[in-house]
Amino acid sequence: MKNKKITRSITQGMYILTTNGGGCVVDAVSQISSGDNPLIAVAVMKNNFTNSLLHENKLFALSVLSENVDGNLISTFGLKSMRDTDKFLNVDILEVMNMKVIKDSIGYMICEIVEMIENDTHTLFIGKLIEADVLKEDTPMSYGYYQEHKDDLIKVQTENGKTYWVCKICGYIYTEEELPEDFICPKCGVDKSLFERK
Ligand code: FE
Repeated sequence: MKNKKITRSITQGMYILTTNGGGCVVDAVSQISSGDNPLIAVAVMKNNFTNSLLHENKLFALSVLSENVDGNLISTFGLKSMRDTDKFLNVDILEVMNMKVIKDSIGYMICEIVEMIENDTHTLFIGKLIEADVLKEDTPMSYGYYQEHKDDLIKVQTENGKTYWVCKICGYIYTEEELPEDFICPKCGVDKSLFERK
């Protein structure tokens, strides 16, 4: 028996990773060394558009989300793709070192990528912390908190009675009555058979 639910007890947080050209929600973030420029590791899904951006860019920023974050930020950065949506539209950002940082966050860390490790599903990006600040005092959102509250946090904003389709793999939401026959999830790349009608 492999009850993966226990992995929700790993005390990961919730972050928005941004890099030149895009960004996404990530939870697998860890500080893996100390000193003046500690190393921060972050895992990003390979199918994610942000992953390809990170292979081209030098820097990424992590904005730390609080339990009081606007859920729209999580649905925008977590369930949509820059392949078809400008995630930064209507989002308050701060520019730090030419990086877009999320204003509605506890603070940010800007890292320079020093190593990449590929596994089957994710790339582990290891970055050297080069700039960081605290923006406000609040309780950081844990991944477990997100799992418990996600139905409220990411309420789908469609009118009552309207059909939408949810990718069973990544949660991407497509808000049309019918899914085109050749539909490919813009976020994770799976075909329409892995979409569930709601
Ligand atoms: Fe998907």
